[in-house]
Amino acid sequence: MNPTTLHPGPGGFYGEFGGAYVPEMLWPNVKELQDHYLEILEDPAFLAEYYRLLKEYAGRPTPLYPAERLSQHYGTHIFLKREDLTHTGAHKINNALGQILLARRLGKERIIAETGAGQHGVATATVCARMGMHCTIYMGALDVQRQRPNVERMKLLGATVVPVTSGNQTLKDAVNEALRDWISHPGETYYLIGSAVGPHPYPDLVARLQSVISEELLWQFPELTDRREPDAILACVGGGSNAAGAFYHYLDNDRVRLIAAEAGGKGVESGETAATIALGKTGILHGCKSYVIQDDDGQITEPYSVSAGLDYPGLGPLLSHLFVTGRAAFHTVNDDEALAATLLLARLEGIIPALESGHALALLDKLSFKPEENIIINLSGRGDKDMETILKRMG
Ligand SMILES: *Cc1c(COP(=O)(O)O)cnc(C)c1O
Repeated sequence: MNPTTLHPGPGGFYGEFGGAYVPEMLWPNVKELQDHYLEILEDPAFLAEYYRLLKEYAGRPTPLYPAERLSQHYGTHIFLKREDLTHTGAHKINNALGQILLARRLGKERIIAETGAGQHGVATATVCARMGMHCTIYMGALDVQRQRPNVERMKLLGATVVPVTSGNQTLKDAVNEALRDWISHPGETYYLIGSAVGPHPYPDLVARLQSVISEELLWQFPELTDRREPDAILACVGGGSNAAGAFYHYLDNDRVRLIAAEAGGKGVESGETAATIALGKTGILHGCKSYVIQDDDGQITEPYSVSAGLDYPGLGPLLSHLFVTGRAAFHTVNDDEALAATLLLARLEGIIPALESGHALALLDKLSFKPEENIIINLSGRGDKDMETILKRMG
């Protein structure tokens, strides 16, 4: 196994992907983080506080649930890692808590973040309230309209939501505004990124914080079975943070197959898709080199998926590296397939998953597993936020 799979090498590269491609004015901020993040993350006092908050505030460890009726339906053993049961209802809280503790240790007083669907904005506003820190969330003006309940949650939590009216008024434009803010207020501001994307060290930082998911699997899985490790772990990918977290401690264990579902939207050929691996070419997005959906002129294409959390035109560098080295397999799941899998889980197990997680569940229809195999699906979040979309599609 390539030793750079788990941790990036010099300059933050996983093979050819990663790095820190930022404007010169941003370099001091990024360098400060690069110089300090590992020493802080590995500090026993930091870890003690992080794990205490994960337990007492976020509700960890999350259960590993043997899904009996789903297992019967597919004729294999299926376990669900219940990130949907965390505070705020998705894995994003793991990352937000870790980064805000890091920000405090760096002496920062003000947090900024970008958000598309609003899920990361809510997680960030939540931890800012908990820590008593100022919170400014940049969000495309179109997304502000489309994601009203999340905007209201952020405001209720005390955050300032700034609608961004440049460009397409979506996530890409929100990221640009957040970066502009960071350049203008370098001393006191921490930029809290929501997925395993962005300039080095963010992809590694976020993967390490989310790795608590597979750290728990290491002891939970053997407790439930007579096996040491599962045969496969399945996760959906937007930027790649829940997948990175669920795969992390198994990356060097070739007996475990790692399988990712990316959002096909209305179909890879439809022009309305977020299937980065299926369509993408190598490019630079948000300060790192990775797979990116772009047109022939290298312009980033506006992505689409029924699930707002997968609606991202890029992919984190670790996941891109896992793809090109063959360590992880990628499949495209379209809107309809994810919706069907979401409904099936609701009816068979009484769990309404996020539509993002529905993409991972839909892999069960595309792949075949043997009756004796054990499959873990990372259930990245709960579906309350998607009720309107789900009901509309059910007609
Ligand atoms: C944001 C989100 C995702 C996608 O983000 P990753 O960084 O790829 O994990 C997946 N599931 C849920 C529930 C989300 O909120």
